[in-house]
Amino acid sequence: MKSGPERTDVVIIGAGFTGLSAALELKAAGIDFLLLEARDRVGGRVESTENGLGERVDSGGQFLCEDMPELMALVETRGKALVEAYVDGEFVAQPAMSEAEAERTYLASMAIRDRMNRIDPDDPAIAGLSVATWLASQNDPDDAKAAFRSMIEGLWCQALEKIPLWHLIDNDRRITNEVSELQYFVRETMHSLADDLARDLGDRLRLNTAVKAIEHGPGRVRIVAATGTIEARAVLIAVPPATAAKLDFAPPLPAGLQRSLAVWQSGAVIKVLVRYPAAFWREHGLSGMVMWRDLPGLFACDASKDDDHAALVVFVGGPLALRWRDLGDVALRAEVTARLVEALGQQAAGVLDLSYRDWTDDRWSGGAYSDLIIDVTATDAERRLLAGTPPVHFASSELSPSFPGYIEGAIVAGRIAARKIMAGL
Ligand SMILES: Cc1cc2nc3c(=O)[nH]c(=O)nc-3n(C[C@H](O)[C@H](O)[C@H](O)COP(=O)(O)OP(=O)(O)OC[C@H]3O[C@@H](n4cnc5c(N)ncnc54)[C@H](O)[C@@H]3O)c2cc1C
Repeated sequence: MKSGPERTDVVIIGAGFTGLSAALELKAAGIDFLLLEARDRVGGRVESTENGLGERVDSGGQFLCEDMPELMALVETRGKALVEAYVDGEFVAQPAMSEAEAERTYLASMAIRDRMNRIDPDDPAIAGLSVATWLASQNDPDDAKAAFRSMIEGLWCQALEKIPLWHLIDNDRRITNEVSELQYFVRETMHSLADDLARDLGDRLRLNTAVKAIEHGPGRVRIVAATGTIEARAVLIAVPPATAAKLDFAPPLPAGLQRSLAVWQSGAVIKVLVRYPAAFWREHGLSGMVMWRDLPGLFACDASKDDDHAALVVFVGGPLALRWRDLGDVALRAEVTARLVEALGQQAAGVLDLSYRDWTDDRWSGGAYSDLIIDVTATDAERRLLAGTPPVHFASSELSPSFPGYIEGAIVAGRIAARKIMAGL
């Protein structure tokens, strides 16, 4: 006899840190749920791969700092060892400038960022402005503006021309760390933490289960995946907004909610890990940190685990990632190495291994750390997504009240969403 569809109370779509955190919250409260994940692994934008030396490395989200309380607590309770990132020594700016000039330019770019964040995001005077338009109106030296562009396009992975000024201010104000966000990384990889969380979920977690459609009505939902259909009382769509926009909803979502999903766009990032026989830059009094004003969005820093694992991580973010992606494998490797040689000297050519993960156009998580709103008029898009249309709910790092676009934000967003759903069951 053919049995009917599977039933549960809550279906969570997406096993990134948002979905994993929501699932653990439901589990602790004794709620019946299923967590469905399209990929053959958990973690989403937190992922690990093997480099050419057979070492497991974080190819996605990796760093954290003491100002991220929920992630720090998880790392501690799960017994993960932290490596403190090496920061001693000089920071290098490209094109080359003196240490004093580099320091002055960095401080000037941070002053622009502080000035921006003092603007009220709801101020009607900035309505309709992109970050690029606002920056052009500022009276700062060109060097400071170039450093500001490089920093913002590196951190948000999107061209300044596309980002609404109110959105960047609103986002940046929620990123409240006072110490560097690159303070620590997890020795066994951040991805191993996602695996640990998943282990607690047992058979409530289903990998290789890509959801295609959501049929919804008052107090009930049907989740349609290639592997079958599940009926539930509520669904949490724990995927980034631009990825959520690709799901089929029946009936279609209310028009305002549809528009609120459509205004997000994924940025672009390529994360490169370059292993060296030794951290040669330290011998020259350099920290390994490099910022390029002439190649906005390019940034490098020391990510050595220990003396036997000397490494630089290079982030290629925003429009530069889209250009370099099109170079192809060989030329991309050559380009990264050449830029490091220019900045740190000939020893940078002595690469042991160079591995990279191109996230641009990633099918399941978008192309970067986070999606951003790219419509200057969409001031209520985030609020509408957070309200959802119960029993259909949305959560992702992007929608977090703290650290949007970070792992910390995903944990917070997942827990809040789970509590909200439980309150409505
Ligand atoms: C290269 C890179 C470096 C980063 N570095 C850092 C860092 O150092 N520190 C930091 O704090 N943050 C970092 N981030 C950002 C951080 O990783 C993310 O903000 C966070 O992990 C997002 O979690 P999430 O659960 O909201 O979304 P995701 O991790 O994207 O999870 C969404 C999940 O949903 C799944 N999914 C999507 N569609 C479907 C579907 N139809 N059916 C089923 N499943 C689906 C996806 O496969 C994915 O597993 C980085 C991100 C990248 C890409």
